[in-house]
Amino acid sequence: MIDPQEVALRVQQIRSEIARASSSPVAIIAVTKTFGHDAIRAAVIAQCDAVGENYAQEVLAKVAEAPIDLPVHFIGAIQSNKVRQLAPYISLWQGVDRLSVISELGKRAPGAEILLQVNATNEDTKSGVAPAEVESLLAAGQDAGLVVRGLMTIGPTSGDIAEAEKAFLSLRSLADSLHLAECSMGMSDDYLVAVACGSTMIRIGSRLFGARTTH
Ligand SMILES: *Cc1c(COP(=O)(O)O)cnc(C)c1O
Repeated sequence: MIDPQEVALRVQQIRSEIARASSSPVAIIAVTKTFGHDAIRAAVIAQCDAVGENYAQEVLAKVAEAPIDLPVHFIGAIQSNKVRQLAPYISLWQGVDRLSVISELGKRAPGAEILLQVNATNEDTKSGVAPAEVESLLAAGQDAGLVVRGLMTIGPTSGDIAEAEKAFLSLRSLADSLHLAECSMGMSDDYLVAVACGSTMIRIGSRLFGARTTH
């Protein structure tokens, strides 16, 4: 059971922590994956800026049930064969990390807004393009008619704060060097480090809604 008042209180706490850590605005993306419409409603009440979803089937099931009254960011791995169906519901595609996805988005969701996902920690198991390849992926996105708003990354799996800081600072400086405004970095366990390093949007799930039981 999700208590909307509790969620609103947590969002308020996060907003005041952000205000102490940064003078720039930081969007809060409520990650509602695996939770139902009660979590989405709580995010609406708490005035989160968007919801984040990872799974195509889950987004389609949720919108079939009821409208989602916040922008929806797709934050998971994008399957090319789901782009066309998902496109009407997605306001920002955060996980773009390969040419095949760029070309599919260019065809099925012309003008879509995207973030390029970067593997800033150099972990083999992680999705995301290598930092050295970001510039050419950016050019490909622009050539395909997409609007590249910025970069996105996931902090180190180890949870090590010094490593997180290093990764987030490197993402911010890469975004700056490419004149990209948005840096989506920071999750429940590392959002304050990310905000201090120049994050413009944080993706928060378990800190708002509790532990997920699946995925
Ligand atoms: C699940 C997920 C999140 C939220 O994770 P929490 O640790 O629950 O805040 C953020 N970003 C991505 C890409 C995710 O898959």
